[in-house]
Amino acid sequence: MDVHVCGHVAEAATGRLCRHLLGPGDESEFVRVLRGRALEYDLCCTACDTADQAPEFLVVCAGCAVRVDEENGTHVGWRGEPGIAERPEPAPGPLVRTPLPEALRGALDLAPLPDGENPAWLVLTRDGAIVRWDAGTGVVAEIAADPLPPEPGFKPFIDKELTPRLHVAPRGDAAAIVHDYGRYGAVLALATGEVTLRLDGGDYWENTVPFSLAFTEHGGRTVVAHRTRWNALAVSDALTGAQVVPGGDGMLFHGALHASPGGRHIVSDAWAWSPVGAVRVWDLRRWLDGNTDEPEDGPSARSLCHRAYLWDHPVCWIGDDLVAVAGIGGDELALLDGARVFDAGTGAEILAFPGPRGAFFSDGRRLYAAAPGGLEIWDAWTGERTATVPGFVPERLHAAAGELAGRDGDVLVRLPLR
Ligand SMILES: [Zn+2]
Ligand SMILES: [Zn+2]
Repeated sequence: MDVHVCGHVAEAATGRLCRHLLGPGDESEFVRVLRGRALEYDLCCTACDTADQAPEFLVVCAGCAVRVDEENGTHVGWRGEPGIAERPEPAPGPLVRTPLPEALRGALDLAPLPDGENPAWLVLTRDGAIVRWDAGTGVVAEIAADPLPPEPGFKPFIDKELTPRLHVAPRGDAAAIVHDYGRYGAVLALATGEVTLRLDGGDYWENTVPFSLAFTEHGGRTVVAHRTRWNALAVSDALTGAQVVPGGDGMLFHGALHASPGGRHIVSDAWAWSPVGAVRVWDLRRWLDGNTDEPEDGPSARSLCHRAYLWDHPVCWIGDDLVAVAGIGGDELALLDGARVFDAGTGAEILAFPGPRGAFFSDGRRLYAAAPGGLEIWDAWTGERTATVPGFVPERLHAAAGELAGRDGDVLVRLPLR
């Protein structure tokens, strides 16, 4: 082991520092300068960042690098480029293009229905009706006329507009229509089209988050987790509306909920004052078994990451135990495109890799990222990009049919994954 410029005899850090970040300078603002190899980076102060010549980087001990990077300093940006790992495999496909029937043109949303031989979709029409569309046979059947109440007093938070969104239960027996960034929603029995539960998420900063809602299965019935106030999540029986778990008070503004595919865990993409985004996971079964406090201080609750000013960002389950969270860094203003993969049981971050951006989807095998230029497929265990489908930007994963789907105007574009 060597004596480093920081004066310590210790293991050298992978990342180097400019000399101004040593000693009293360790509380400075700094940028991470990527070295083109995976996520490796050096750190320099903001003066070195804007100087005419390239910064001089010094090898320091691991302790000094961590103190600046993760404890005392403030990360304000990324420079350079990460190294994207490629391991090409044949891309899935080909794409299947199906024009929407006349009645469904201009649809506001569509969500996969798990039943049926052919891929079936629940569609929210431009008039607010909920219909079932069998994309294979073309049959359209109305389920409900216009169950979502209007919100005439809505005031947008920054750029977040009132957005109707459909959710479908894994068993296919219930669905919900909610206003993301709004207050109201409704749960429906799909067999009858009847509203079984009116949802009211409260009127306190509800315009900052997608409406908290997730379906899962519990004891052979479909249940739905939903907001009842800014800081309370309850669980109700989706077909009767009866309460299963009452909402407990907490400190988090709950946002989008993501139940794991097998119903073992659930994530809330929440925020708390100052504001800081807080991605939180807890054991869904313990919660459903009546441990009301599980989302806030239950023994299974784990905070996966905190990001200043950042929430309502892609999160997706990879199977039942791993959660992929989009964006690398602790601040909305210093975020690198990439994925962080966490173990839901322990809360530990097990992998981070640069590259993925846009909405995330997973079939439990691959991470699919809907990048603006088209789909990118990643191996979530190695961080390697295995394929791309340029021009195809999916909005939904139809897990039962094994396909991703997006829209090109009024044409449904589907990518079979197997
Ligand atoms: Zn410097
Ligand atoms: Zn040192």
